[in-house]
Amino acid sequence: MSHTAPLNNPALYHALHHALAQGIALLDTNQQPYHAPLTRYPSAFLQSAFQQAVDLAPLFNQVINRVAQHDTFLTEVLQTTETDAFSAQLGQIYTQIQTEGISQPTQLGLFRSDYFMHQEPTDNRIDNWVLRQIEFNTIAAAFAGLSPEVTRWHQLLTQHPAGLLPDNLALQGFVLALTTAWQIYGVDTAVICCIVQPNERNRFDQYKLEAALWHHAGIRVRYKTLEQLYEATHLRHNRLILTDGGDEVAVAYYRSGYTPKDYPTPQAWAARLRIERSNAIKCPSIHYHLSGLKTVQSRLTQPEILAQLVPEAKQRQRLQACFAQFYALDSPTVQQQVQAAPEQFVLKPQREGGGNNYYDKEIIAQLHRLSPQQQTAWVLMQRLNPPTTRNQLLQQGVCSEEMAVVSELGIFAVCLAQGDTLLLNQAAGHLLRTKPATALEGGVAAGFAALDSPLLVAQMPERPV
Ligand code: ADP
Ligand code: MG
Repeated sequence: MSHTAPLNNPALYHALHHALAQGIALLDTNQQPYHAPLTRYPSAFLQSAFQQAVDLAPLFNQVINRVAQHDTFLTEVLQTTETDAFSAQLGQIYTQIQTEGISQPTQLGLFRSDYFMHQEPTDNRIDNWVLRQIEFNTIAAAFAGLSPEVTRWHQLLTQHPAGLLPDNLALQGFVLALTTAWQIYGVDTAVICCIVQPNERNRFDQYKLEAALWHHAGIRVRYKTLEQLYEATHLRHNRLILTDGGDEVAVAYYRSGYTPKDYPTPQAWAARLRIERSNAIKCPSIHYHLSGLKTVQSRLTQPEILAQLVPEAKQRQRLQACFAQFYALDSPTVQQQVQAAPEQFVLKPQREGGGNNYYDKEIIAQLHRLSPQQQTAWVLMQRLNPPTTRNQLLQQGVCSEEMAVVSELGIFAVCLAQGDTLLLNQAAGHLLRTKPATALEGGVAAGFAALDSPLLVAQMPERPV
């Protein structure tokens, strides 16, 4: 640990050492390890809302798998987002693969759907919390390795009876899905290639997965950035071969590739295309990647579009029950509402990874900067109003004062598909990230949010003043 642990507080000292013993760590910008930000206590989360989110996981998998196969729908989404250069480049890869034909029919998704509990600010009833989806991640969903350790850490420290802090099977779920995909690929000596960012800070999360894959199934993992892959791979009859060592890649697992920064050169883009053209199982394929665009999420809230993708009325209702509202930016009425009360909205571009959204008056300023054409590549979402609870944050060996915080629940899900057939389709553990109630965004590595565990309750505690 690079920072001094609070020696004058033995309980905290032990708690932080336990976190390190379990590998709950990140790398800082100098690639030095430090304990990941943690909440001192688990945070209350409504049990019914938690269960609802878990139950929705297989349904969202099915929807994403249908979106990924719906060429007319995806093409229309790509037309609306084409003023965004990054989405447009991803779209070009999609179009090229559609023209050439996909060379690997098996699709692997390691997803995470993120939620807040929400109550309308005008609703005076106590405890009228509903579950609302923030976003659906189809690429590089992080923390399936560390989050189960955080659960065990909170279980150990609080010694709550079993069940209050539900077990977290995220790592097992990811290992099962990756192992099954690797087996389907069917080459005993092939590796899983983990595609990482150049200065990856969440290595420990990935190492948990690497170790589990080796111990569980004897599968080797190699790490490469997109730029390295351009130099260090070639295609041999569609097979993706790593030139240093000659390993064949069974699964190309992206832990990068979701932001323009991951493609600093044309070579990095060329590597992405090469991988897409290969018969390695992509996690995700360009099809699954694009199915996670924020515009897809907003389109699904339109009843006629959802009806096309999910003909079953009951399933549609279950999905709609967690949808937040999205608004048409080209509507003059909506533009007036934003001018009058920007605090009721969030403006989002087609980006992942945190720190990209606009809030409050910044929304108005940003909309002024964007032409009507550019605005089509943005989504306007209802601002959610999650419950505040109280907690302390442990960051860099220092424990904060107790403060008002809000928690975001992520439900991991694994999805292995061949066409409409889902070979694997299940929820796979959870992630709770907690941030000060005053913080707008919630990145853990960025230092805003802390890793947490849900303490399941029948009723949320009353709002602190
Ligand atoms: P990213 O893909 O960058 O993670 P998100 O949609 O998850 O984008 O937004 C980032 C963060 O912003 C979330 O973790 C959450 O804290 C906050 N946020 C996103 N959408 C809303 C919303 N509708 N209301 C309130 N906060 C939001
Ligand atoms: Mg997010």
